[in-house]
Amino acid sequence: MEIKDKPQQDPVASLYLVDAYMRWALLGAEEVVGKQGLTVLLRSHGLERFIDNYPPETLKISGNITLGDYAKLSAGLLTFFGRAGKSMVVRTGRLTSKYAIEKQSAVYNVAAKTAAKLLPWGMQVKMVLDSMADGYNKLYAENGQQLHFKVEDRGHAWAFISLECPLCAGKTSDVPMCWGRIGTLKESVTWLTGREFEVEEVECRATGSVACVWEVSKSPRE
Ligand SMILES: [Zn+2]
Repeated sequence: MEIKDKPQQDPVASLYLVDAYMRWALLGAEEVVGKQGLTVLLRSHGLERFIDNYPPETLKISGNITLGDYAKLSAGLLTFFGRAGKSMVVRTGRLTSKYAIEKQSAVYNVAAKTAAKLLPWGMQVKMVLDSMADGYNKLYAENGQQLHFKVEDRGHAWAFISLECPLCAGKTSDVPMCWGRIGTLKESVTWLTGREFEVEEVECRATGSVACVWEVSKSPRE
């Protein structure tokens, strides 16, 4: 797996990230690589300013953090673990999501969770994905920045689509690299359903696609 900076400036990398999202990603990463490991990682990927200095847990854009910064952390984790470390990166994504689920009741609505239990598996999965996509779009719009997350039916699976993906903004890669999102999607779907579902990234901006696309299966693993 080879990750590099895009030769031309990627406008997506200059968009702003919601502060709390960087905090949760750093906390998730710290849990997996340890505090010292994370310090090394941050220093070697141009993210020194976050060492012992995590952003506040606010769902606001302060303008201090870009999607490009988030992609540096994502690329740093992949480099840290190497290609064989996919499961570790997915784990980091799952931990990131745990913080998000605890603190983001607008997206992870407990009342909706109870009602969803009556739906078939495929509709339960769609409900979580719609809630994530709508929640992200709404939060960014409230902060004066338009991002486009959407969900499409691909027949055998649901497609979760991100036109301005924070995990690979400004990067090129020989293979899809946004494994952290596999973790957040898996954790979110498990939160609602109590079961495990397969998630795979099938298109990635870093490999030249127009969007990052993850397919989420409609039925749980046996
Ligand atoms: Zn991506």
